[in-house]
Amino acid sequence: MSSTKTFASAADLEEKKVSFDRLSEHAYAYTAEGDPNTGIIIGDDAVMVLDTQATPVMAQDVIRRIREVTDKPIKYVVLSHYHAVRVLGASAYMAEGGEQIIASQDAYDMIVERGQFDKDSEIGRFPRLFQSVESVPPGLTWPTMTFVGKMTIWLGKLEVQLLQVGRGHTKGDTVVWLPQDRVLLSGDLVEFDATPYAGDAYFSDWPKTLDNIAALNAKALVPGRGPALKGEAQVTAGLDATRAFVSDLYASVKAGAAAGKDLRSVYKETFDKLQPKYGQWVIFNHCMPFDVTRAYDEATQYPDPRIWTAERDIEMWKSLEA
Ligand SMILES: [Zn+2]
Repeated sequence: MSSTKTFASAADLEEKKVSFDRLSEHAYAYTAEGDPNTGIIIGDDAVMVLDTQATPVMAQDVIRRIREVTDKPIKYVVLSHYHAVRVLGASAYMAEGGEQIIASQDAYDMIVERGQFDKDSEIGRFPRLFQSVESVPPGLTWPTMTFVGKMTIWLGKLEVQLLQVGRGHTKGDTVVWLPQDRVLLSGDLVEFDATPYAGDAYFSDWPKTLDNIAALNAKALVPGRGPALKGEAQVTAGLDATRAFVSDLYASVKAGAAAGKDLRSVYKETFDKLQPKYGQWVIFNHCMPFDVTRAYDEATQYPDPRIWTAERDIEMWKSLEA
């Protein structure tokens, strides 16, 4: 392992190619080779997006693609969870006639508790993803509606379910389910060809949450990162790969912690164990220190994720990578 890894994704400067794929009568996926995705649902009378991109300037590219296929108003912005890279573009949709920003109550609580810390921390970790960061209005992105467990929105005759199917990537994860089209927008609960970020995760719960998603039997799925999954075989492959990564990482960390090893040794061991299988996924080197630190916390004395601040990010990185 190199001792000179650049912090997080500070050295990732290469622009990605955007794809805008139709998945069903009503669902589209805006994806960008492993950068954060936006899911789009076009109903009878309105459009909904899941996750906004990181800045209003970046969200404008999503809006431009939507306008190539419909002129219906984009009324609903749903946040799959509270992370800045997915929410700070929201004002672009509100300026275009957006009416509601919707999140789970758990995601709302996380914005209250740690939204500002997360914003400062994420901008430092991945500057490329915050293109034109000056276009983000001051303050945080606040939901205008929250729900607990389940909320149904009717876009005319199209039923759209917002569901909390368990904790995983964060405690506040929401998925969007279209029962009629059998399309699921998963947020970061599922990734494909991209490393799951687990710095705010619940490792013990995540595999079961993926089982709950599998039980919906989707025939297409927009993951949080990576290409859209088309057909049941691809959906299953995406769920299985995410579950395997989360389970392999946690098993390795739990074993190390149970043997009384310190975080740094557990990190080196776990990195070397997972690298051959998952090292080709985007942001692997970025995620591993955060993921292992959180897994070690959960396996030892912190049932809930501790807040990441810009300072804690750097301290952790130095202690594991120096
Ligand atoms: Zn996230």
